[in-house]
Amino acid sequence: MRTIYLNGNYIPETEGKVSVFDRGFLFSDSVYEVVSVLDGKLVDFGGHVQRLARSLTEIGINGAPGADDWLAICRELVARNHVEEGMIYWQVTRGTPEDRDFVFPPADTPPTVLAFTQSRTLADNPVALRGLRVVTMPDLRWGRADIKTTQLLYASMMKNEAMARGADDAWMERNGWITEGSAQNAHIITHEGVLVTHPLTCEILHGITRASVLPLVAQRIEERPFSVHEAEQAAEAFVSSASGFVMPVVQINGHIIGNGQPGSATVQLRHAYIDWARRTAR
Ligand code: PLP
Repeated sequence: MRTIYLNGNYIPETEGKVSVFDRGFLFSDSVYEVVSVLDGKLVDFGGHVQRLARSLTEIGINGAPGADDWLAICRELVARNHVEEGMIYWQVTRGTPEDRDFVFPPADTPPTVLAFTQSRTLADNPVALRGLRVVTMPDLRWGRADIKTTQLLYASMMKNEAMARGADDAWMERNGWITEGSAQNAHIITHEGVLVTHPLTCEILHGITRASVLPLVAQRIEERPFSVHEAEQAAEAFVSSASGFVMPVVQINGHIIGNGQPGSATVQLRHAYIDWARRTAR
């Protein structure tokens, strides 16, 4: 049985208790982070800790652990759960007022702080060898996709809808322009050899993996929106995320990308990122 971290305590997963009045439960009033583990070490820890701090500031939650605390919590969970490879989820909610109320509780209400691990194969994920089939769907999320909140219902619905349509995942679009994947940043490489990726606006999550992958790219980079049509005609396509690293996309709305196999630049980038991640994990 896994050990989880909840509000200062390391406890068996079955013993974690959170109030029914917790604002994370009643309002999705909470933010989270997902950090990958390779060789028992944390990948891109600094980036994730910084983004969590930004998410907390944007929605005004106080009293969460700081960087050193998160590092200690993660290392303790990795050790206790013997995680060689996998994920650590961190979640901070606005805590538990005495009753349900739209008005925020007093600013000194302690947040609810949770962390748990999942052991999984990441570097040798077999999906990377065949690539993903994606379908595009309207991006109907709220306008602050740059804050990593736990309002994940729409993304979850889109992923399930994509699977029901025989694909692996969804790419979301606003007015014909791709924003991002259900839980990944979306990128294409054009036939001219240019990597195109959505700029960092409020419409997408500012991916930590995206930020670490782009400096490893050999191609010219254009940070601009790209259309569904441009994506369907791309030479290569891929997604980036903490859990998938760099993952090839081989089909978009039934259009075969390249020759239907993961593109060579994408495969190279996946290896370059994994090498970088292993070298810099802490
Ligand atoms: N976009 C969305 C909507 C996500 O949920 C995620 C990750 O969960 C990403 C992008 C990728 O971000 P990161 O590379 O920080 O995992």
